[in-house]
Amino acid sequence: MDDLAARRRTLPGRLTPRVGPAASAACLLLLFADCAAPTVAPPGPAPEAEASVAPQSDGGSALSSVSYYTLARYPDAAEWMIGADEHAPPAVEPDERLSLPAGMQATYGLEVPAGARLLADVELSGHATLKVELLEDGVEPERWSTAWPDARALDLDLTGRAGHYVALRFSARGGSVQLGHPRVTRTVATQRTLARSRRNVVIFLVDTLRADHLDFYDTTAHAQIPALAEWARGAVVFEHAYAPANWTKPNVATVLTGLQPWQHGATTHLARLPDHITMLSQMLHERSYFTGAMVANGYITSTFDFERGWDTWRNQVQGPVDSAHFATQLPRWLARRPRDRPFFLYVHTTDSHAPYRAGGRDVHRLDPEAYAGPANFRRRPQLLNEVRSGTTVLTPRDRQRLVALYDASIEGFDRSFGRMLAALKRDDPEGQTLVVFLADHGEEFLDHGSVGHGRTLWNELVQIPMVVGIAGAEGMRVSDVVGSADVVPTLFDALGETPPPGLPGHSMLPLIEGASLDAPPLAVGSVREWSAIEVGRLKLHLRGPSAHPTAELYDLQDDPAETHDLASARPLAVRYMSRALLRRLRDEPAPPAPDANIAPELEAQLRALGYVGTQRAN
Ligand SMILES: [Zn+2]
Repeated sequence: MDDLAARRRTLPGRLTPRVGPAASAACLLLLFADCAAPTVAPPGPAPEAEASVAPQSDGGSALSSVSYYTLARYPDAAEWMIGADEHAPPAVEPDERLSLPAGMQATYGLEVPAGARLLADVELSGHATLKVELLEDGVEPERWSTAWPDARALDLDLTGRAGHYVALRFSARGGSVQLGHPRVTRTVATQRTLARSRRNVVIFLVDTLRADHLDFYDTTAHAQIPALAEWARGAVVFEHAYAPANWTKPNVATVLTGLQPWQHGATTHLARLPDHITMLSQMLHERSYFTGAMVANGYITSTFDFERGWDTWRNQVQGPVDSAHFATQLPRWLARRPRDRPFFLYVHTTDSHAPYRAGGRDVHRLDPEAYAGPANFRRRPQLLNEVRSGTTVLTPRDRQRLVALYDASIEGFDRSFGRMLAALKRDDPEGQTLVVFLADHGEEFLDHGSVGHGRTLWNELVQIPMVVGIAGAEGMRVSDVVGSADVVPTLFDALGETPPPGLPGHSMLPLIEGASLDAPPLAVGSVREWSAIEVGRLKLHLRGPSAHPTAELYDLQDDPAETHDLASARPLAVRYMSRALLRRLRDEPAPPAPDANIAPELEAQLRALGYVGTQRAN
């Protein structure tokens, strides 16, 4: 019994050892007799069982467990130490075993999902033991140890930490430890399987549209958007979607290539999209898609090499830029397209970009009081530049008018969107066309002291709407974090095609389906000397020179305006989120991007949009 007593001292409260087949039932009873929590799973089924749960029908209340984070495969927020020395990630075997040599400490940071468990098969060499620690800022660590030689599995219940950012630390002592398929699982309420097949694809990208000015993102939003809201109610709304930069060119290049800005390099006023990078239009054209673009932004032009892979290309820079024009063009395009192959259409509108022209009469309903101040683009076409340079100071009343002009322009877009949707519906009454709706970036209205866009990574600039209309998933909201780089992998997944290798994003379809994931969803962004990462409810900023950045951490659930910095109180979250962010930036380096020669007319158009002369080369 001394042997068993020794085992009992090392047994965890909620860690379930799977013991060898020789163990007797009496032995098991004694082993579990002093477990603190009643959540101990009985020994028996292998952990892989969670992958074979039967799908639940919509509205079913049963929860299913699916993989959320395969630790061995995605070492984003992790570090490996032996003593005080940091090491490269340990070798990952083809079967996703993680080998920890004696003395190694491997730590993984993550936000714990709902219903989470930590599962792994364990192989201990000789007299090795595995120590597992659950660390969280401001909370006493929990520790467990496998001191018995025949312990073969971890099954650690993490449900009490759901929504908390924690670190899981594994320490190999006295010998090497092999972790087989170490993973964190989560529970999902609804599972479905979406069809993968060739189909028509439309991307609506609305320039400068911040998510919280749409009523299906923020119920206090003022703009009336009946067409968009009704369509979103029948689609999948991603509640936490982020752009990787703060102005048009880098973000649109990410949407249309699947590469992050620091990978495609189209990040400065003059930079062209490098020749060796393949655009989505080229990828789909090669797959016999009929491809068309309708664009109203001077940065998405042939000057910067975006005119590639399109069968039809319209850039309205020199003509009418109001989306009403596209609403007229789109039915004609659909009528003329070849019917013997699928199409890909990219529609990029700029109604909600300064000078917010599309609103017209709506501004008087949104802001009925008489107004004679500077928030008037007819009289002050360079208003935003004046505010940014400090030559004009906006009062709260001026800000109110500016926001009303912006919201009115969103309403103007909504009328066009309704017409474009109607044309699509006439073309495809069955609703099989895959539609992605998003913005390139948002707009700031003195939220953090400035106006316009192109300078910061605060939420008003990087939190974007992301809505996916896909047959088989209607009326859903997904709270997982996604980013602009996820669009291309999502499209390829939906079309049943393998995406090009090396893309940093992930398909959003498993999030819709409630299926297993390889890695926790996250989004990253970076402009000059300012980077950010969003993980669950937390957002970390790193600002300043890359060698010595300053960290700021915000809980977006409690503090969506990012006003209360938690960095000093949450060192563990800062440490592992920083590692994930810096690893992404380091492992996804930017190629040199060639510069464009800009024609005078285009220069004038970009100046009218408020860019030239004020755009930081970020
Ligand atoms: Zn833009």
